[in-house]
Amino acid sequence: MSTAISRTWEHAVVTGGAGFVGSHLCSALLAAGAAVTCVDDFSTGRPENVTPLLERPGFTLVRADVAEGLPVVRPPDLVLHFASPASPADYLRLPLHTMEAGSSGTRNTLRLAREAGARFVLASTSEVYGDPRQHPQEERYWGNVNPVGPRSVYDEAKRFGEALTTAHAEAHGIDTCIVRLFNTYGPRMRGHDGRAVPTFVRQALAGEPLTVTGDGRQTRSLCYVDDTVAGVLAAAAHGMRGPVNIGNPSEITMLDLARLVIELTGSGSGVHYIERPVDDPAVRCPDITLARDKLGWEPRVGAEEGLRRTIAWFRAEAGH
Ligand code: NAD
Repeated sequence: MSTAISRTWEHAVVTGGAGFVGSHLCSALLAAGAAVTCVDDFSTGRPENVTPLLERPGFTLVRADVAEGLPVVRPPDLVLHFASPASPADYLRLPLHTMEAGSSGTRNTLRLAREAGARFVLASTSEVYGDPRQHPQEERYWGNVNPVGPRSVYDEAKRFGEALTTAHAEAHGIDTCIVRLFNTYGPRMRGHDGRAVPTFVRQALAGEPLTVTGDGRQTRSLCYVDDTVAGVLAAAAHGMRGPVNIGNPSEITMLDLARLVIELTGSGSGVHYIERPVDDPAVRCPDITLARDKLGWEPRVGAEEGLRRTIAWFRAEAGH
């Protein structure tokens, strides 16, 4: 793990804890000795992600929509708000739910943190930078987001969530932190969630062509999930308010990613070019100077190693 700063928590509430990142976060917190309450409505998460945790002492699963409220009995000392559809396929299918998770859901989780006197961490996103005019993106950059484009339900919900978190910190003195996660990948992603890594891995393992959008020259920076979780927990442990970028600055084009997945799976698949989605960002790369300097955190898992682990998990899941 790449965390330099650590802190002991008694009881953490993780909203969206049955999702991809949230379930890894629950596991890491349990391993660190915290009791964990996972609040999830399973709108995009999977029960299988947390079923093994139900046997662990200190783990509680609460099925609830955070936009409606958080029926959490035991006061937490840490609240991590990760509940939100995150893949474009999900948030385009669930536009209003996504905006509610970012607005009412953020308000309700902030209220829980305030009542308990807990530290609050908001999972924001590199999508707040939109189709960026600054590269790489540092936290001071305000972004380039189309407020009425198809992606706005997610981007603007997250931007509103950041504003709401900042306002609550100012108005009520809540101990808040905003982490801006960049593209994260790893085991437990859904093969059909529409994001590049699970799509390419699923297609390569099935011997289908890998669907690359546009000319494939658009870039993303891919962070392995263990590194992301370590970065989030380091930011939680630190007193910083953020926002802080958590991501891997190593950038790769989508075409190179497709080729790498083909090579690592040993697949005979080729590449098939399809239309690029509206407002799809051309580049994406975090400036992680702040996280390096303040948290002593940086990613440790390279693309090849992270993809190997992800491919192994998908193979096991699919029985390949
Ligand atoms: P995911 O879809 O796998 O997980 C989201 C979880 O939230 C799911 O379990 C879902 O059921 C739950 N959820 C959604 N709406 C809810 C609601 N109203 N009430 C209760 N539960 C709800 O997505 P993920 O990739 O794990 O993303 C988790 C968080 O991290 C999201 O907030 C996302 O915006 C943020 N993030 C993720 C990435 C990434 O690359 N994975 C990048 C940037 C930010």
